[in-house]
Amino acid sequence: MIEMKDVWKMYPNNVSAINGINIIIEKGEFVYVVGPSGAGKSTFIKMMYREERPTRGDIFIDKTNLSTLKEKQIPHLRRRIGVVFQDFKLLSSLTVYENVAFALEVIEEDPSVIKRKVMDVLDIVRLKHKARALPDELSGGEQQRAAIARAIVNQPEVLIADEPTGNLDPDTAWEIMDILEDINHRGTTVVMATHNKDIVNTIKKRVIAIENGRVVRDQIRGDYGYEV
Ligand code: ADP
Ligand code: ADP
Repeated sequence: MIEMKDVWKMYPNNVSAINGINIIIEKGEFVYVVGPSGAGKSTFIKMMYREERPTRGDIFIDKTNLSTLKEKQIPHLRRRIGVVFQDFKLLSSLTVYENVAFALEVIEEDPSVIKRKVMDVLDIVRLKHKARALPDELSGGEQQRAAIARAIVNQPEVLIADEPTGNLDPDTAWEIMDILEDINHRGTTVVMATHNKDIVNTIKKRVIAIENGRVVRDQIRGDYGYEV
């Protein structure tokens, strides 16, 4: 499903962020990516949705090689990969409904199909009652649920989450994990970079630890492995 073959990333300032990573993530897996600040986690994740391009090596999402993907194919790729961020990145002038519908409107989906799909994903994240609200009117947890709805509305094969609970209090973080697990159980592969030791040590999943741009640990049902 996701494969990295001898992947390296050097930024223009000569920082070598990823130094030879080989990894396979199978369809339907739930993977935590852990490691100290500056270890390369965000770079690792950004390369999976072609926000960054590797300097060397190949990255496959199924049969698609992201290293050789043409610019004009990126929008199509982004429909196959949903992304959520620590800071939500909702459009502040649009309602929850409109934020989620946006990704479908750009592909000129039929309005009745859009409405059904948006309401279906708002149901999954338990936010139908806030469809008319603006992001500013929502709690942090509700904003993240809206962002997750937006990320899954195209039914992506993969959901990538870069510290999705980083701005949330502990109770809200557990709620978000419930939703991510639910989405995973529906068949979506989930890759989540996190610093949340409690979550990683409690909801046991595969753990990939990155330090200095290398995979230093890859365990089924692993631990967080660092002091917080
Ligand atoms: P993490 O997510 O684990 O904190 P990052 O992938 O953000 O790690 O960063 C890895 C290394 O790459 C760090 O040394 C960081 O400063 C550097 N880096 C990240 N993004 C950029 C960038 N856009 N330009 C230059 N250096 C970067
Ligand atoms: P349900 O019947 O499942 O509760 P509704 O069709 O009543 O869902 O829609 C709930 C809310 O979603 C509406 O009150 C509205 O705020 C929003 N909504 C629905 N359709 C649209 C649309 N086409 N554009 C913008 N907002 C919409």
